[in-house]
Amino acid sequence: MSLRSMTGMLKVAKANHYAVGQFNLNGLQWAQAILAAAEEEQAPIIIAASDRLVPFLGGYHVITAMVRELVQEMKITVPVALHLDHGKSVDNCKRAVDAGFTSVMIDGSHYPIADNIKMTAEVAAYAHAYGVSVEAEVGTVGGMEDGLIGGICYADPQECLALVTETKVDALAAALGSVHGEYQGEPVLGFKEMEEISQLVGIPLVLHGASGIPLEQLKRTIELGHAKVNINTECVQAWAAAVRNVLRAEPELYNPSAILTPGTLAIKETVRQKIREFASSGMAKECLETTA
Ligand code: 13P
Repeated sequence: MSLRSMTGMLKVAKANHYAVGQFNLNGLQWAQAILAAAEEEQAPIIIAASDRLVPFLGGYHVITAMVRELVQEMKITVPVALHLDHGKSVDNCKRAVDAGFTSVMIDGSHYPIADNIKMTAEVAAYAHAYGVSVEAEVGTVGGMEDGLIGGICYADPQECLALVTETKVDALAAALGSVHGEYQGEPVLGFKEMEEISQLVGIPLVLHGASGIPLEQLKRTIELGHAKVNINTECVQAWAAAVRNVLRAEPELYNPSAILTPGTLAIKETVRQKIREFASSGMAKECLETTA
């Protein structure tokens, strides 16, 4: 199975009222755990590298080779997209496309909307020529985003419409109260604005900062047009807790695989649970048939 763009995946998901999970990479174990969970659940899946972590992960080419080769080695049969999360610049998005990423996000949300549209249009023209899907962002997700700590700023519906119309992106992250990392108290999402933006733009929406959002709210975001839901923090926390437990229980242990394998299993179980919450479990076959 080769890597594919997320365009078809998200269209099918939106039409069938489920969401494809995007899970962020933090190393080889994450790729193994995410792919294993997706295969066991028979779910389409998006594996993402955050642009700010690309040097830590070894560079665009290493990431592509790792995911592509694991898909072969693990005999993965479900649809897999390799996505650049929060692409920091037009150049970085082009480098990811050139290295074989099948999807990129250009995050121009920290710029005035005219600049955001300009950079997004440039990325979309380049990526689409290679069959690579493109996600853009309007508004600001709270917490740590793109290496910057910021407050929540709701996406403006007319700015969303202008960006989608002028750039022809495949998916839109419209920030409406979600936060990267841990929430302080109960998340408060702008469902009214979500409905308005979803109807205006018509393309699949992307929910960033989905860790910690209660299931009922998650379900509502999916009903209102979110076909891609991003998770990082819950996987990282599950990994850290598992590794910490092993080291606490056996402080003398130094065998890396004995220390790290429980972490891999914890990521896998978190991904499995999220896939079920997003209702994408068992959807791989239909996705493959519809988007072949
Ligand atoms: P969390 O870390 O809050 O799960 O957010 C992930 C995300 O949105 C990546 O873009």
